[in-house]
Amino acid sequence: MITSSRMNGLNPYVPGEQPKDREYVKINANENPYPPSPYVISSVQEFISKHPEKLGVYPDPDSLKLHSAIADMLNKTGGVLCRCKTSTFSDGKVFVEPAEEDKIPFTVTPDMVYTGNGSDEVLSFVFYAFFDSSKSFVMPKFTYSFYPVYAGFYNIPSDAVPLKEDWSIDIQKMLEISKKNKSGIIFANPNAPTSLSVSREQVREMLLKANKDEIFIVDEAYVDFGGESCIPLLKEFDNLLIVRTFSKSLCGAGQRLGYIVANPELINIVTTVKNSVNHFPLDAISQVSGVAACESVDYYINCAKKVCEVREDFYNFLSKKGFFVLKSKTNFLFASHPKISGEELYQKIKKEGILIRHFNVQGIENFVRISIGTKEQMDLLKKAIEKVLG
Ligand SMILES: *Cc1c(COP(=O)(O)O)cnc(C)c1O
Repeated sequence: MITSSRMNGLNPYVPGEQPKDREYVKINANENPYPPSPYVISSVQEFISKHPEKLGVYPDPDSLKLHSAIADMLNKTGGVLCRCKTSTFSDGKVFVEPAEEDKIPFTVTPDMVYTGNGSDEVLSFVFYAFFDSSKSFVMPKFTYSFYPVYAGFYNIPSDAVPLKEDWSIDIQKMLEISKKNKSGIIFANPNAPTSLSVSREQVREMLLKANKDEIFIVDEAYVDFGGESCIPLLKEFDNLLIVRTFSKSLCGAGQRLGYIVANPELINIVTTVKNSVNHFPLDAISQVSGVAACESVDYYINCAKKVCEVREDFYNFLSKKGFFVLKSKTNFLFASHPKISGEELYQKIKKEGILIRHFNVQGIENFVRISIGTKEQMDLLKKAIEKVLG
């Protein structure tokens, strides 16, 4: 056989479908329906037209400007966009402030930030750095489906802890197992695909009881839509590592920009892994667009607020139509209907030209996951659902 034994055991992640047979309303991958900010567009255009030579040389390996811009953005917003307050001055400048409950009690510094090619790559390096065949991790049974893929890729033993009756994460059980096996912990908060979140205080209590010498990873891909960020806990817990992304709330899935916020020692560890694989993972254009996104965060605050508004409206619609819907703190809704299976609903909605996500996974097979698009997209889905339910 030409392949390695390692290769034969791989189970790659299956992304939401991207069919080419017709134009669909695509609300199946939790992308943001809004484009990047006008400032991102103009910054990238200007970078390419004024500095074409920069595409011919290696980009800043330390991504210093980007790390500063991310740190500034977090300090300005508290790391939860949908609750930020904005006020516009007469000169057009916008002042951004975190909600009281989101204020970070210290300043996030650039050395607390690591960036990579999407949080998927970031997570890959994190799994490499902190787990191996004798260093296991605990995760919820239903969570981001890439975690078990990495477990297979790096040959890491893991425990998947069933969710509670109400679909929330079983914090107690996860702690128990991690204590018993000396495992690290990872979960998405808010979780996917359930959309439910754990409060910062709950995470804090977990951290107080968890193994201090094992990594504790919180994936905050969706936190900007209403969760509580754990960034304020970073000074209290050296083993806390927070993964975030530009793909959801910063309208940047195509830019492939993910990042870590953690204490500088953990950042150095992940950087060592990166430098052992590819020491230039972020291209020059992504670095420019990332800086510009952080500098125009007021635009994204608006987008996040719109997404939350449309989500609440759509939540009410689904409830009225007899769906069981979880109380989402994300840019998607996780719902099931007593009269139609998840598979059938997904298929029938697809015939109407709209893509939503169905997981053919035992335990959640009755659910569909619906990303929140624009109001217009969701109006189309409302019509399609009414037609399908009859
Ligand atoms: C979308 C998502 C990611 C991946 O984001 P990228 O930055 O686009 O790679 C990571 N974690 C969770 C929970 C996600 O939903």
